[in-house]
Amino acid sequence: MSAKLTLKLQNSIDRLPDWSSFVVSDLRQGLLDWYGQWGRDLPWRQTCDPYSIWVSEIMLQQTQVKTVIPYYDRWLTQFPTIATLAAADQQPVLKAWQGLGYYARARNLHRSAQVVMQHHGGRFPHNLEEVLKLPGIGRTTAGGILSAAFNQPVAILDGNVKRVLARLVALPTPVAQASQHLWQLSAMLLAPDRPRDFNQALMDLGATVCTPRKPNCPACPWQIHCQAAQLNLQSQIPMSEACPPIPHKSIGVAVIWNGQGQVLIDQRPEAGLLGGLWEFPGGKVEPGETIAECIQREILEELGIEVTVGEHLITIDHAYSHFRVTLHVHHCQHMAGMPQPIACQQVRWVSLDELDSYPFPQANVQIIQALRSGSAKN
Ligand code: SF4
Repeated sequence: MSAKLTLKLQNSIDRLPDWSSFVVSDLRQGLLDWYGQWGRDLPWRQTCDPYSIWVSEIMLQQTQVKTVIPYYDRWLTQFPTIATLAAADQQPVLKAWQGLGYYARARNLHRSAQVVMQHHGGRFPHNLEEVLKLPGIGRTTAGGILSAAFNQPVAILDGNVKRVLARLVALPTPVAQASQHLWQLSAMLLAPDRPRDFNQALMDLGATVCTPRKPNCPACPWQIHCQAAQLNLQSQIPMSEACPPIPHKSIGVAVIWNGQGQVLIDQRPEAGLLGGLWEFPGGKVEPGETIAECIQREILEELGIEVTVGEHLITIDHAYSHFRVTLHVHHCQHMAGMPQPIACQQVRWVSLDELDSYPFPQANVQIIQALRSGSAKN
């Protein structure tokens, strides 16, 4: 933080702002009036069904609204109730999630539906403590569901809300260092008589007006009370944390063909990143290793078979939340040995047409597209 900025920010995160009740009620009413005019018309706002709202909240955790809408519609067609989701196998659940990323969300949603069936008679719980026990539901998701479905006065604090509140009070630290303070602020501002509308309005304000870059302060109902706007510090608040560089891994990936024109795929272990999804086998390139050497070693270690590495198919760069990968994908030919699931759940020989029935991570979907676009070897 610059010395100039420090001088401007004399407030503290140890105590809440000393707004009068008039200011608090003006903030609430101003936001609710703005929402009445500018709030977004989203599919999950046309229902009070807790399951539909729950699905939307989980999908929206790391994904933008416009991406979520078609997934949300398809999901509710395929799994219209908690009971249908709980009864489904995991593979169609992951397949329906394919392309949304962060697949732990789908696995947790599935597991939670089974918990709701077993322990709550198929009815989504109304109690915050019970909701927080469900896999994949944290405090802000619980607040979002309980306020939207049951109009309960439970606060929220997602990324958009953190930014709005940080600016409103000109937070003198990065938001990660003021989590408790921001929760208290969100709860203090929440309109007790209209919690559903208030929380949704707060999310909309962050998504459409108080945006990360160039917030539209003249259109904001909170402008006259906003300390960041008064200090002209909107572009510097929230303060950023110093982030370590994102690690990068090079991965050798094999499209292994047998003599029948089939390719070999494996299912990742249940626990961990992309658990339960299928993929083309491969692994990390070790120092001093060529891509071909990496592929031969990984395939022997993980599947117990020998392959020859042939021509290059495609190179794919992909970013996960905490690291980036570059996939170097090669056609390979199966030479010897029976594939075994040494480092995965199961392995399978499949035709290119059959690939559609398996859930794959997004980077592997690009491999399938490359295979189908005429690059296929067999
Ligand atoms: S006045 Fe500007 S910075 Fe302050 S809350 Fe509104 S949009 Fe955000």
